[in-house]
Amino acid sequence: MPFLTSVFGNAASRTHSFGFAAEGAVGEARQRVGDLIGAAAEEIVWTSGATEADNLAIRGAAEFHAARGRHIVTSQIEHKAVLDTCKYLEGQGYRVTYVPVDTDGRIHPEAVRESIAPDTILISIMLANNEIGVLQPVVEIGRIAREKGVLFHVDAVQGAGKIPFNVALANADLVSLSAHKMYGPKGVGALYVRNRPRARIAPLMFGGGHERGLRSGTLPVPLIVGFGKACEVSRREMPAESERVGQLRDRLKQRLFESIDAIRVNGSLAHRLPGNLNVTFSQIEAEALMMSMKDIAVSSGSACTSASLEPSYVLRACGVDEESAYGAIRFGIGRFNTEPEIDFAARAVSQAVSRLRDLRRSSETL
Ligand SMILES: *Cc1c(COP(=O)(O)O)cnc(C)c1O
Repeated sequence: MPFLTSVFGNAASRTHSFGFAAEGAVGEARQRVGDLIGAAAEEIVWTSGATEADNLAIRGAAEFHAARGRHIVTSQIEHKAVLDTCKYLEGQGYRVTYVPVDTDGRIHPEAVRESIAPDTILISIMLANNEIGVLQPVVEIGRIAREKGVLFHVDAVQGAGKIPFNVALANADLVSLSAHKMYGPKGVGALYVRNRPRARIAPLMFGGGHERGLRSGTLPVPLIVGFGKACEVSRREMPAESERVGQLRDRLKQRLFESIDAIRVNGSLAHRLPGNLNVTFSQIEAEALMMSMKDIAVSSGSACTSASLEPSYVLRACGVDEESAYGAIRFGIGRFNTEPEIDFAARAVSQAVSRLRDLRRSSETL
């Protein structure tokens, strides 16, 4: 609160105490964000969110290393902020290999190794997927990247603060984070940029030379302070919280499977974020299901474009057929959910599914 009201200094003002107060708070937040992922404070570059962090990592690396090579390795199930940046670079003369996933939604490290060419400059693989919650073997992939001398970018947005992640252990050179995916404010994120060995990237924006010249612009002090606090809380709560959230997720799964037939989980259960459950209800359209239980905030795996509803590219990459992809719902369980809420949601889903299936049966017999 004080940073929204009374502490109004510019963190880049080096000539008065108001600036020092803001700079001090930003420095403390930098340390807290760094501590969450095992980074030093000065390796944290503030951005407007993970979309910008992904763009800065990938476009920044591509531009800086263009003379050395123009090949990038990523996966088919990355977030659009990664995939669309890679698409853009393909238009600029870069080659991109989109490594596939198995039916569990997992990337095989050997597939990454095999796709590395002499001109590969960057590997970009996510820590955890945003639709199916599946964890990727980033430690193994990081080892391969280091061995081959290729920069390694990890979009860690979904996993940071939920599961342990350490930049040294993963040999990560660049890591994207977003505050609002871990109970922090919207509109702020960070890119970790490794110091030793130094990860070299070009900036997207030019100006006052803030953030080691990698991201010019006046810092949003209140958002940054909130992001720092969110990291501190997540780091402290992670062990107990992941246990508790995982139990709620398992309870939800059990309740759904007890009361509804013809359903299945999408993506590996063993390698998964504790708070994610992605389920296909056969003979159901996720959109209709969501509309019939509006007091439960779930999402379909599908990306809503202005003109058409396309089935989830993530589920399609896992080999899920088109109809099953349209019947998929993502449940996200978090810090503030309770057992009664889980039971309420399971009942509501079960009732909605039987109603929709009854409707479908009666319209088929008509
Ligand atoms: C949400 C998300 C992003 C984008 O983050 P913003 O801060 O909302 O721009 C990028 N990657 C993943 C995996 C995400 O879940």
